[in-house]
Amino acid sequence: MLFKNQKGIIIIIYDIIIKGDCMNIMEIVLKKQIGKILKEEEISYVVNNYTNNIINDSDMTLFLKAICKKGMTDKETIYLTKAMLNSGPILDLSMIDGVKVDKHSTGGVGDKTTLIVAPIVAACNVYIAKMSGRALGFTGGTIDKLESIKGFKVNLSKDEFIRELIDIKMAVTSQTEDIAIADKKIYALRDITDTVSSIPLIASSIMSKKLATGADIIVLDVKVGNGALMNNLHDAKLLAKLMIKIGKSFNKKIIAVISNMNEPLGHNIGNALEVEEAIKILNNNGDEDLKTLCKELATNMIMLAKSIPHKDAMQEVEEVLKSRKAYQKFLEFIKYQGGELFLPKANNKTIINSLETGYVESINSKLLGEYVMSLGAGRKNKTDQIDYTVGIKVIKKIGDYASKDEPIFEIYSNKLDIPIFPLNDIVNINNKLVEKEPIIIKIIK
Ligand code: URA
Repeated sequence: MLFKNQKGIIIIIYDIIIKGDCMNIMEIVLKKQIGKILKEEEISYVVNNYTNNIINDSDMTLFLKAICKKGMTDKETIYLTKAMLNSGPILDLSMIDGVKVDKHSTGGVGDKTTLIVAPIVAACNVYIAKMSGRALGFTGGTIDKLESIKGFKVNLSKDEFIRELIDIKMAVTSQTEDIAIADKKIYALRDITDTVSSIPLIASSIMSKKLATGADIIVLDVKVGNGALMNNLHDAKLLAKLMIKIGKSFNKKIIAVISNMNEPLGHNIGNALEVEEAIKILNNNGDEDLKTLCKELATNMIMLAKSIPHKDAMQEVEEVLKSRKAYQKFLEFIKYQGGELFLPKANNKTIINSLETGYVESINSKLLGEYVMSLGAGRKNKTDQIDYTVGIKVIKKIGDYASKDEPIFEIYSNKLDIPIFPLNDIVNINNKLVEKEPIIIKIIK
């Protein structure tokens, strides 16, 4: 058979006949490189043999690059998800009598929604079982945020996780090392081979871990904007639709909320500072955008779990916020996992003033996230120690008016020689009125 690639080089490919035990990684790579559709057994062959160190990193990189270039059909993506999901254990929550829900955020700057949504949902009498991760790149992780609470235990055994769910309807634990172990290995390779930003690879990576938690209902928070994995709405919708398709193929009820990440979520960025802000919302105060998004995520979970209309679910959410039942649930959860609600504080506060007078037009959330990580809120290497106290409070957000020399950021640190704050790169001020962007962009079912 003759194929001509884009550079005009004639590639001679002899019939690619991949038969059961004759499978071979290079034949599979070639098949993807020329845009053919892979079979389920070919995809599971690659995933299993890479996980077991039979396929090496360079051949796997060719496979991943071919996917980045040629894409995957929805069916292929589902097969990839299934292979990665089955590479590790799947949590069996069937001994808990009732519907279990879970949420996932594709990651953003200042995203503390789990700390707020989980107690709201549990206070509405719905089980929420959550396995969370640590900081990744310029975005924080729920587990690091919870660890900023004195004594809080993040590594629960399976029995402890289930016992807590039965007792108080919510539990949050660190993702175990063996969950979707193939994804862990493939993700680490993607990170260093420039193969992260492929929608089928992202969707299968996220969903393989979500499906392993064993929940019946999944609500996705797909972020779009300059502080998110997806920086345009078109890609965010594609990712959301693909993850929904994967979820449905595993018989899950699943909804995606596409939310704005063109500025940090809420005001606080940094582990203990984010817990402090979550507590404000649970007391029915605080940033309106953050509260709106948390209410929407919780409402969708309750609506699906109880099979009730959206407006009735929203009413329940508002009631547990007003009555502080959600905050009481949060306190119960912290105590259950050994925490004492004492948040450490940084020694120094540095105020950054506006250089101009006008309206905040844009905030580069990614740069802001990277700056907070450079203060010590995240890790460069897996073994780095986090400083839970450091971070930033964003005083002025998009659409706010700032006079020259008025504070727009507060930096919290423990060192006197903090890195230079690149104000001009992070914030744009315009002398014309700037309209605020909505926090919720679209809901996809
Ligand atoms: N988060 C994941 O878990 N996987 C990806 O591929 C990207 C973000």
